[in-house]
Amino acid sequence: MNNNLLHEPLTILKGVGKATAEALQELGISTLEDVLFTFPTRHEDFRLKDLTLTDHNERVTIEGRIESDPTILFMGKKSRLQVKVLTGRHLIKAVFFNQPYLKAKFIPGEIVTISGKWDKGRQVIQASAHQLGPRTDDHDFEPVYSLKGRVTQKVFRRLLTQAFELTKEELVDPLPESVRESYRLPNLYEALQAIHFPEDAAQTKNARRRFVYEELLQFQLKMQALKKIRKDANVGRPVEYDPLLIKSFVASLPYELTRAQNRAVDEILKDLRAPYQMNRLLQGDVGSGKTVVAAITIIAAYSAGMQGAIMAPTEILAEQHANAFFDWFSPLGIQVALLTGSTKAKMKRQILEGLQTGEIDVVIGTHALIQPDVQFKNLGVVVTDEQHRFGVEQRRVLKQKGLEPDILFMTATPIPRTLAITAFGEMDVTIVDEMPAGRKPIETYWMKEQQLPALLSRLKKELIAGRQAYVICPLIEESDKLDLQNVLDIFHELQAYYEPEFKVELMHGKLPSDEKDAVMRKFSDNESQILVSTTVVEVGVNIPNATFMMIFDAERFGLAQLHQLRGRVGRGDHQSYCVLIADPKTEVGKERMTSMTETTDGFALAEKDLELRGPGDFFGRKQSGMPEFKVADLVHDYRALQTAREDAERLVDSQYFWHSEEWSLIRAKLEQSGILEGQRID
Ligand code: ADP
Ligand code: MG
Repeated sequence: MNNNLLHEPLTILKGVGKATAEALQELGISTLEDVLFTFPTRHEDFRLKDLTLTDHNERVTIEGRIESDPTILFMGKKSRLQVKVLTGRHLIKAVFFNQPYLKAKFIPGEIVTISGKWDKGRQVIQASAHQLGPRTDDHDFEPVYSLKGRVTQKVFRRLLTQAFELTKEELVDPLPESVRESYRLPNLYEALQAIHFPEDAAQTKNARRRFVYEELLQFQLKMQALKKIRKDANVGRPVEYDPLLIKSFVASLPYELTRAQNRAVDEILKDLRAPYQMNRLLQGDVGSGKTVVAAITIIAAYSAGMQGAIMAPTEILAEQHANAFFDWFSPLGIQVALLTGSTKAKMKRQILEGLQTGEIDVVIGTHALIQPDVQFKNLGVVVTDEQHRFGVEQRRVLKQKGLEPDILFMTATPIPRTLAITAFGEMDVTIVDEMPAGRKPIETYWMKEQQLPALLSRLKKELIAGRQAYVICPLIEESDKLDLQNVLDIFHELQAYYEPEFKVELMHGKLPSDEKDAVMRKFSDNESQILVSTTVVEVGVNIPNATFMMIFDAERFGLAQLHQLRGRVGRGDHQSYCVLIADPKTEVGKERMTSMTETTDGFALAEKDLELRGPGDFFGRKQSGMPEFKVADLVHDYRALQTAREDAERLVDSQYFWHSEEWSLIRAKLEQSGILEGQRID
């Protein structure tokens, strides 16, 4: 095996001088191998197509007769040239940006071939390529690369041809033949050929499948190897729980667990019993019943003689959990304590002592739980609610105390499966994807601001019936003065309308946290009936009497966030409503609003959000730790991701993978990633 040529610099190619080599370097391309593995961003289809068969925004190539002198519009350095073309029975316009010199070339009566994006409504082609005269047959289907400057498509294609010629004998396929055969994937040589020099779309599609699989497999191998390393390290202790106690607790509940809850419990118990440290994400839509799953987890630890801790991001949520857990645990003789920042000093001392001696079995609290003065006798399980609010940092602190308990992260943020198994690839993921029976779906409407008077009187009826309401205003940047003014205006308007009959309160991020808590508590105790708030209304707040939600400027929120907000209502027996007040200007914006009115399934919405916004936006910017893929696309390649994950799981566990020649190239890449450093895997 001689890979030398692949790693040669580009200057060995004809036509690559210093300047071109530097320009390529800027694109991250410095060796022959880099050239071969620079994949096109799309393929241009130059086969002629009838416009009647072409969809709006679809790319198309047409041949036609120039019907007018081109007109040209200059805008500073930019220009827009427009020309009428008759193709078949369509008289259309073709638009060319920043190519003013075409004015002299387009002569009425002559034939021209134009490729571009078809704007069906305006009957315009936004041209991206053209050819004077009728279409010739020499290119049907061509890859288009993301390039810039002196490295044009033409230049790059010349390099590709040379690089491919020179190295094709040396290409060694990292994917074993057995794998390629079972998924009917082309080998490396065929795939590169099909991507760069395709005959048709089907061929490139199949080649793409291969690179997607390879990329995802490599990624998942890394994730699964990390997981295996953690499990093999045996840092956790097996939790020898008592199944009978769990059974009797479940039997004492006023309802049957849903199938999804049962499955979650099974997966968690399996982790607890195993000698490794549990690191599981429990995902479930708002109201899917995660709390009782957490309770069972804690009871399991208790029955094994271990302590449990439950952490919530805010005092209100901690209190809310404490109430639920007191009710469940007291009959079982389990000692529960609530520890937050506002626990009185004397009480706090008692709790700390109780945790150290083991008198207290379960502690519920906020960040206060991970302060240095908190010592446990035998901490077995930690459950954290709303994982995205804290997680990694808190685990590190626990570890510093010499504690490596089993950890369950709960989140109601519906992260699409695709992302969950990717971003959290190193965690085990359980999804509670079923709602308890008998829930009334929240009725959701989309309105314009002009309809506000009618809406306000509708809300009044709800208030008279004894219900409460949230009114949400966007304050995306807490520093945005305009937005803040907007919130205040709405607050005053509602006060004028409803007070003194009903009390309206205001909440926003600028309030000191004790005031926030006070406002929340008043609303929770029904001392106020309308809460005007920015998005600081806590995820997980449970006020079943609140049945009405109004969201102003709803188009400014993402779907996932709208869904989270909406989850504040629909928590009791009464029918709940959510009204989106929005005037979206874009198609995507309109689609978002419509999706909200059509479904209350958080996962469906999250998938939709992902589709509309793309994975980069989903977690909000890049810092999220989302992996970036070169070929794979998390929305469309979900099935490939699933397959790759299953395969990786199996491979990481097999001796054959770690030792066979067949897998040596894939293994080498895994080793390059550094994660296996100092690890023994077998
Ligand atoms: P979340 O997953 O949002 O934390 P909760 O645990 O707060 O949801 O549960 C929401 C409501 O559903 C609670 O009132 C709870 O008592 C109820 N609940 C949970 N599981 C079931 C079930 N299997 N059948 C009926 N009601 C359930
Ligand atoms: Mg909850």
